[in-house]
Amino acid sequence: MKIYNSMTGKKEEFIPIDGNNVKMYACGVTVYDLCHIGHARQAIVYAMIADYLRYRGYNVKYVRNYTDVDDKIIKRANELGKNAIDFSKEQIEETEKDMAALHITDADEKTKASEYINQIIEFVQGLIDKGFAYKTESGDVYYRVRKFNEYGKLSHRNVDDMLNGVRIELEEGKEDPIDFALWKSAKPGEIYWESPWGKGRPGWHIECSVMALNTLGETIDIHGGGRDLVFPHHENEIAQSEAYTGKHFANCWSHCGLIKINGEKMSKSLGNSLTVRDALKMYNYEVIKYVMLSKHYGSDVDILDEDYTLAEKHLYYFYNTIAKMNEFINQYEGNAEGEKVKDDISSTIKEKFIEVMDDDFNTTAALSNLYGIFKYINNLIKTANKGNRNEVANTISKILEQVKEVYGVLGLLEQNPEEFTNELRKKYIEKINLKTEYIEEKIAKRVEAKKQKDFETADSIRAELDEQGIILNDTLKGTTWDIKELY
Ligand SMILES: [Zn+2]
Repeated sequence: MKIYNSMTGKKEEFIPIDGNNVKMYACGVTVYDLCHIGHARQAIVYAMIADYLRYRGYNVKYVRNYTDVDDKIIKRANELGKNAIDFSKEQIEETEKDMAALHITDADEKTKASEYINQIIEFVQGLIDKGFAYKTESGDVYYRVRKFNEYGKLSHRNVDDMLNGVRIELEEGKEDPIDFALWKSAKPGEIYWESPWGKGRPGWHIECSVMALNTLGETIDIHGGGRDLVFPHHENEIAQSEAYTGKHFANCWSHCGLIKINGEKMSKSLGNSLTVRDALKMYNYEVIKYVMLSKHYGSDVDILDEDYTLAEKHLYYFYNTIAKMNEFINQYEGNAEGEKVKDDISSTIKEKFIEVMDDDFNTTAALSNLYGIFKYINNLIKTANKGNRNEVANTISKILEQVKEVYGVLGLLEQNPEEFTNELRKKYIEKINLKTEYIEEKIAKRVEAKKQKDFETADSIRAELDEQGIILNDTLKGTTWDIKELY
């Protein structure tokens, strides 16, 4: 299995430190507001990686953090007249609701900065003792960046270049503008903890070094996070951890690309910061997941409204086919163990999935393989004849079993097919402003006209419905209708 490592800029063979055990840490959400679609992508990506590694037989421990002490949280809590920790607790609950609604596999441990204060203090003291950190008169503690020779190895920049183009706050008592805060003294009205340096709270970067060390150990296999965290956050994590333990911190640095929405960077001021909650009002959770997984996790993506529509169409096709498969299997007594048709593709599904997923979790390719599979199935059903229906049913049954196993790893195609397609049809019928009764009435009129051999009227009804976005399908069992836009 190969995974792209931001540290080396290469796809590398994945070899865990400890046999089959994989230690993975991914930076989570700073909880000061409802989470948006960018947070969802990141959570989906690292859950996908953990789930896939498990599918490949690894024993994964996946840790994800919540930053629940931070400037933004304190500011927001103050505006609302709430205690910062109570406020972030509420926000974590809301985030958990959203992630559960998206059916994202939970991390094995979800850590919070506020629950690791003692360990943070111990870590910071250790850095001071080793000369990698210093305390100022006002009770702040800074990391002495130039003391860590390898600083910049992840972002591939040297310290002096970093100073260009980065806004450096010239806090009092800092030895060097590049130094960053490990511990911040409390300003009046701010939440604080007692420490050897006075009342204060941790800086942001230190929490991840401390939580990774306490939950996973000194060296971890995979460290993930959004690409915007490479510098300074991950660079600082490396500096802290490696100075403290004297060991290599993470073997593979994995970064999830950033999201734009309809060509614009997501921002509250632009009014295009799509929250998970709002997205779920518009789309089935699987549609959102499908959009995210259809893009490679490492690439920056521009998500257009059309991407969701396209995902709806694809899933509609897949679920309709699954419904058809179930029907065919029932009717012709399919059995996954029975005799199959000659060109049965069921055995290649898993193989192809592993082949692309082992190549840096190429979900884009895994999803596009689905078309080939479903096209094959539809063709098989269409061309089935009296002589081979049972074999076709057996084949389809085996394929369905494989598709569910493999794509279930990505959390896809697990819903009830009829419920999914009905829900989508309902949404689109409302969108085109028609009522089911109206369509059925029209179909009845057309049937009547055909009975009377009035083909002109029958054709005009079909044309009229087509104009309104409804397509008709004459089958042996009668006329069915569907939404044009979903094809
Ligand atoms: Zn972090």
